[in-house]
Amino acid sequence: MQTLLSYVNAEWIQPQGRLLAVNNPANHQPIAQVQLGTAADVDAAVAAAVSAFKTYAQSSVAERIHYLEQLRTAYATRLNDIAEAIRLEMGAPRQFALDAQAASGLAHFDSHLNALREFQFSYPQGQSQIVHEPIGVVGLITPWNWPMNQLVVKVLASLAAGCTLILKPSELAPLSATIFAELVDEVGLPQGVFNLLHGDGEGVGQALTHHPQIEMISFTGSTRAGKAITKAAADTIKRVTLELGGKSPNLILDDADLEAAVRQGVLLCMSNSGQSCDAPTRMYVPRELYQTALAIAKTTAESLIVGDPVDPVTNLGPVISQTQYEKIQALIQAGLDEGAHLVCGGLGKPEHLSTELAQGHYVKATIFAGTQTMRIAREEIFGPVLVILPYENEAQLIEFANDSPYGLSAYIASSNRERALNVARQLRVGQVQLNYPEWDLYAPFGGYKQSGNGREYAQWGIQDFLETKAIIG
Ligand code: NAD
Repeated sequence: MQTLLSYVNAEWIQPQGRLLAVNNPANHQPIAQVQLGTAADVDAAVAAAVSAFKTYAQSSVAERIHYLEQLRTAYATRLNDIAEAIRLEMGAPRQFALDAQAASGLAHFDSHLNALREFQFSYPQGQSQIVHEPIGVVGLITPWNWPMNQLVVKVLASLAAGCTLILKPSELAPLSATIFAELVDEVGLPQGVFNLLHGDGEGVGQALTHHPQIEMISFTGSTRAGKAITKAAADTIKRVTLELGGKSPNLILDDADLEAAVRQGVLLCMSNSGQSCDAPTRMYVPRELYQTALAIAKTTAESLIVGDPVDPVTNLGPVISQTQYEKIQALIQAGLDEGAHLVCGGLGKPEHLSTELAQGHYVKATIFAGTQTMRIAREEIFGPVLVILPYENEAQLIEFANDSPYGLSAYIASSNRERALNVARQLRVGQVQLNYPEWDLYAPFGGYKQSGNGREYAQWGIQDFLETKAIIG
């Protein structure tokens, strides 16, 4: 079985920690093993990045564009390998792994390259010159749910800014990140600029967060880990940018095309087996349209096929792990215990699974009719579970939507743009999507409240990795 190595100072290294099996969530069979890093490995990677920073921070924008263009070409060549790695490590259906998961990386290359070409790193202001400089050596910690998307937005923004980096991908999904390091190796980025160190949160993650020579941690993952990282980074006054969890509301106004709005809302919530931080997991419908909406939602969810990621008819693959499966089951049980009406789906795995697939972590597409105070309406479930709630009027709708510790995204369906904009302005979230628009790679992505701080994507991401200097006189 393949043992995944780390890539430090332009060499493939065997870190000093334990071996961890990487399992395919589709059948819980081991597909690889990964050698985890330790604090000593972090020290070595940081030393390489500190040394490389001296030169790389002074590189011209043209040089950085050249590196990113070379990496983009290499990425495009390996697109199918990346998609297969993502399918194997986190269970995305094969076509979705290619068209959405792997392709997202390619799209971010283009937007970051365009942003870098336009970026103003230095400009006069009165008697001063304002200069934006790379913040230094950065630690990038990423999750497993959109493994390449999260990795690419951080790596490209840091490289564009002139930072050197240590990347720690999720230990649950280390395959695609290893391919990315192979691309870096192939292209020949200067030694020590990009370092990949496999590890878990307690080992490499915490050592990065504490390290005095790392100036910034850019983290995507759970709010739990985000809080731990923020506290641990305080001793060295690091900048910490956080992209955390969500419980994003979907506000269906009474002038929306109900059939289309509910249908698309269900599909978006269930996509990636509900494992997207900005999934619209709370759907609000006017009281008078509630029963009709529940019927549309039920038909839509029941049309989704949960099953083997390699089967072309599959819409939803498994969730990532047994732990995640059990957490989702516990929240479905909480919904039942608190008296939510189960519209479809529910506890247990789908009945049709083969003996082999029954070992995988499959969750039924589940919909509840619930109320605002229930746990299923408040907690991030991170599985294919939607709760639909009725509202009486627009004021109550806005109150419900904002009544959450999270503030990542919100969705509004309406046929009246002015009205939708008016509602959007009152929502305490980082992104509002009107009528399920196309993905905007240049719009800032990030959260309010406990969904985090900082923004990613294109120029917004690059900005987060910069310090600002004033040269006066
Ligand atoms: P997680 O927090 O368990 O792990 C994320 C990463 O952090 C992993 O690499 C892990 O090893 C590391 N880690 C864990 N504890 C750590 C610690 N104490 N110190 C340093 N590193 C630590 O999250 P996950 O289960 O991998 O991902 C799911 C979560 O990520 C969900 O809550 C989801 O909403 C969130 N997420 C947010 C966004 C966003 O952009 N806002 C995007 C994707 C996922």
